[in-house]
Amino acid sequence: MTQRKKSKKRTPRRRRALWALAVAGVVFAFLTGLWWSTPAPRRPAPKQPAQKAAQAPVPKAKPAVEPKKASPPAESAAKPPTAPRPMVAIIIDDMGHGLGPAQRLAGLGMPLTFSILPHSLQAKAVARLAHAHGVEVMLHLPMEPKGYPSRNPGQGVLLREMTRERLLEVLRDDLARVPSAAGVNNHMGSAFTLHPELLEPVLLEIKRRGLFYLDSFTSADSLGLATAQRLGLCTGRRDVFLDHQTNREAIDQQMRRLLALAKERGRAVAIGHPHPETIKALEEWAPRLRRQVVLVKVSEALSARSSPGKGH
Ligand SMILES: [Zn+2]
Repeated sequence: MTQRKKSKKRTPRRRRALWALAVAGVVFAFLTGLWWSTPAPRRPAPKQPAQKAAQAPVPKAKPAVEPKKASPPAESAAKPPTAPRPMVAIIIDDMGHGLGPAQRLAGLGMPLTFSILPHSLQAKAVARLAHAHGVEVMLHLPMEPKGYPSRNPGQGVLLREMTRERLLEVLRDDLARVPSAAGVNNHMGSAFTLHPELLEPVLLEIKRRGLFYLDSFTSADSLGLATAQRLGLCTGRRDVFLDHQTNREAIDQQMRRLLALAKERGRAVAIGHPHPETIKALEEWAPRLRRQVVLVKVSEALSARSSPGKGH
């Protein structure tokens, strides 16, 4: 009984304690509930994502779109000045003897330049054909070579023995035979081009007519280019002879040299002749040339090389 009494006496205490615990638990739960619930609305966190959501898409979306839109035109606009394709000009010398080679060469659709010998039989017909095909024309001016007269450059040649007056007379007659010429280069001339005093009146007349002069460089000692530069002409020199040897292997090697020089210097000028081997090589090299370089007329290559307005 005592145990019962004791237990009976304890039950109200337990109940009170349980109630107290329950109340305390409820209060605790309530308070913690308040504590956990109140910070949530107090926190600026919901606002931050909202701000982020409001801010983030705007700045992120714009730069994400803008550079993509801006970069392709920037790249395509930047490519031409940073990596321009090298220029190549190809002159076909000794033209005017026949229409056949001229027709084949003009039919290649390449911006070639024909240099026409003044006394050749078809000089005027070849010049007309060239113009009809957008091919530039030059006067191929004969000059005295070493070994003259056994090596004969043909009629209309400038010789070392000539007076200044005679040189100009021959030059004017030669120019009249190829009236549509945009410029002049020397045919042979390994002896004549060593003499600046002989070159000077000739080059001054070429300059006076607004024509350019290209030194064919038939001698390593030629002073044609240096004299023309000193006199302020639009000028330049031949870099490569395509067909000094007319076998195909040699021509291919010179074509590769031409491309390498153009890539190294930005532009290069080649001279070839209307040999069947050269014409065939040009036909076969045309696609590769178009892919790797910009084919231009000699006048374009020289005006890009000279300072603007110089010599014109
Ligand atoms: Zn020649």
